[in-house]
Amino acid sequence: MPEAVDILLLHAHTFTMEGEGVGYLADGAVAIRKDRIVDVGPTATLQERYVAGETIDASHHALLPGLIDAHMHTPLAVLRGVAQDIAHWMQKGLAPYTRHLHREAALAGVWLNVLEALKAGSTTMGDYAAPIEGWAEIFAAVGVRAVLTPTINALPSRGMASWRIGDLYPLDEAIGEQNIRAAMEFANQWHGAENGRITVMYGPQAADMLTRDQLLHIKRLAAADGLMIHMHVAQGEREIDQMLKRYGKRTPAFLEQIGYLDDQLLAVHLTEATDEEAIQIAASGARMVLCSGSIGLIDGIVPPAVVFRSAGGPVALGSDQAAGNNCNNIFNEMKLTALFNKIKYRDPTVMPAWEALRMATIEGAQALGMADEIGSLRPGKKADLILVDLNALNLTPVLTEPIRNIVPNLVYAASGREVDLVMVDGRILVRNGRVLGVDEEAVREEAQLRAQEVAEAVERDPVHLDMALLQAMEEGKL
Ligand SMILES: [Zn+2]
Repeated sequence: MPEAVDILLLHAHTFTMEGEGVGYLADGAVAIRKDRIVDVGPTATLQERYVAGETIDASHHALLPGLIDAHMHTPLAVLRGVAQDIAHWMQKGLAPYTRHLHREAALAGVWLNVLEALKAGSTTMGDYAAPIEGWAEIFAAVGVRAVLTPTINALPSRGMASWRIGDLYPLDEAIGEQNIRAAMEFANQWHGAENGRITVMYGPQAADMLTRDQLLHIKRLAAADGLMIHMHVAQGEREIDQMLKRYGKRTPAFLEQIGYLDDQLLAVHLTEATDEEAIQIAASGARMVLCSGSIGLIDGIVPPAVVFRSAGGPVALGSDQAAGNNCNNIFNEMKLTALFNKIKYRDPTVMPAWEALRMATIEGAQALGMADEIGSLRPGKKADLILVDLNALNLTPVLTEPIRNIVPNLVYAASGREVDLVMVDGRILVRNGRVLGVDEEAVREEAQLRAQEVAEAVERDPVHLDMALLQAMEEGKL
């Protein structure tokens, strides 16, 4: 007697991401019951074992675990394209906008980014933002898996736009305390919510943006609650300069001294980390998020992920923010990551396609501490998966012998628009490339409207006269 399941996906070029490679199964199938994968194997075998409520013929498709975008700032989506190709990105590009990013604009950005990422196959989103009312509710409503990190800093409320480059920032302890309290409340409310789809990390924004006592306080809270710490580390010359001025130490040495280097740390960027520092951080058990597109655009740097991985540390990919990337798409990140590292080392064998795909799936899950639940197609894991249409012109031809070309084409040729179906927790969220139950056009219109409001407020604020891109505007280059 065949066993009943909810969904059977059949006849797919299946990449389980189990084992050391990509775990390819020709004519593969996956059986799903409720929110879990119950079986993975040859189509013929699963057809004998199961009867399904819904059977999906996935011929001519690649079936993969859902992609993991470990580091995003979704509220900034409404600032897409306003800050890139400049020096001092944060102060001279982003800050004039962020001080006018009101709540409605931030939420419109979250909606926009979540849909953009979901349609490009991201099923787990590591978002980093101020915990404004309604933020987490959007991830809950759409149905994606989210690792939410409410930003904790002690920066004065008017932000960085008015600071003189090179001066020590003023830290406002009261604001730091208030943000710590807000993060604790947020974690209490949301960690484990929505059938475990939403989890929370503590997010000291960076070592230079809080007092030392506040960093220690957050470390104690995270340890007590068993939550990871998601933190920007060595994210540019500005941070290193601040750390040297405040503590006489570069960030990694400072973090080591205050007990931050351990497996609880998810270290984002490592832009300015030396190879030795990357090895030190990896050896501590900490994990890394690599944002190749963002750091390439903002800093012109390829962070030391190759060295970090060679020291045994897992690395996840992240798209960071649309104001300087300018998209939130893990297909884009896989390609840039592979290319940038080949160029950095002048060696085409560095960071092959299959490794980039592992970072976007199983290794990303390891970096987030979630590899028992997601990141590969294995019985017992959550049913988070995607189907990619291999009949797309840019993915044609599909060859399996003597060389299988699917993974290289997914990494180097796919754009994300070939994603047909996205499932999270056993629920189909995207079908035929459309997000179910969400009015995509309304989301787009709201984002356009709110972004214009922010842009108008920036234009009225004299601080905008200091923006690096104004000259390019005047010269007709934008
Ligand atoms: Zn970030």
